[in-house]
Amino acid sequence: MDTTTFTKKTIGGVMQIEPALTPPPISNAAAAFTVKPKLNAVKPRTKKRDIPEGLWTKCPSCGTMIFDKELDENLKVCPKCQHHFPIGSRERIHSLVETCTFEEMDPEMSSVDVLKFAGYRGKLERDRKNTMLKDAVVTGICKMGGHRVALGVMDFGFMGGSMGAVVGEKLTRLIERATEGGLAAIVISTSGGARMQEGVLSLMQMAKTSAALAYHAKHRLPYISVLTNNSYGGVMASYAALGDLNLAEPAAMIGFAGPRVIKDTTHAELPPGFQTAEFLVEHGLIDAIVPRKEMKEQLVRYLDYFFGGKKGGGSGV
Ligand SMILES: [Zn+2]
Repeated sequence: MDTTTFTKKTIGGVMQIEPALTPPPISNAAAAFTVKPKLNAVKPRTKKRDIPEGLWTKCPSCGTMIFDKELDENLKVCPKCQHHFPIGSRERIHSLVETCTFEEMDPEMSSVDVLKFAGYRGKLERDRKNTMLKDAVVTGICKMGGHRVALGVMDFGFMGGSMGAVVGEKLTRLIERATEGGLAAIVISTSGGARMQEGVLSLMQMAKTSAALAYHAKHRLPYISVLTNNSYGGVMASYAALGDLNLAEPAAMIGFAGPRVIKDTTHAELPPGFQTAEFLVEHGLIDAIVPRKEMKEQLVRYLDYFFGGKKGGGSGV
């Protein structure tokens, strides 16, 4: 909070600056230190207000308390410092597509605990309940600025956006549908990587999604990958890095292994800003950084460019 000062006239007519915060009286200061006050005897000067939980969110970047309604209206971006908070897949889709044009694909497809991995079933059930999603990606065909587009949006709230068999299969089907229909594909990623509870089955998704994208590219159709905080591991080592355009949200952390692992393995000092979107734009992995509020407008602009001003996806698949 900014501090303010006020000028005050004294009897002699001389202007004096009076601080906004009154310093403690000096005469009492010496006395206060003669007896050491007990920690629990010191009472806070102001009573903590009863703020109902879930109404305000503190920005981790600038510390501003933001009214949740305002944060939602601002697409989960801090109005003061532009910090991008995580956003759910449904909200993101809502912010990108023309109203009522999203036709979801495979909404009922859900993961199975094939390997009987300890605790996996419980985590799946917990996240299904918490997110109201069946798995970590929502896919579908939609309209964006007049273009028909195959859109996949990952959700970090579901097991850290990890890629298991369902995420890989849903994205593969989406890309194949885009190839059949002559549509552009856009995937918005946020992921901790492959889902370790599905072992090799999750790793296979890297090859499967990449192969589907190769066929899509063979048909000379555009694929845009949007990387959001954070995009790591097997997702980044496959479809997330294969865009004709790789875009990122501001300050998104993007990489394969995390910075701590790299530092411990290489014993090298990492450069400042390592693995941030801004660092990766400078080093050529990312093509552009697009703030969330400008994302739709920019994507439409890129689609217009790819389709030469015509509206893509005319075959109606
Ligand atoms: Zn902020």
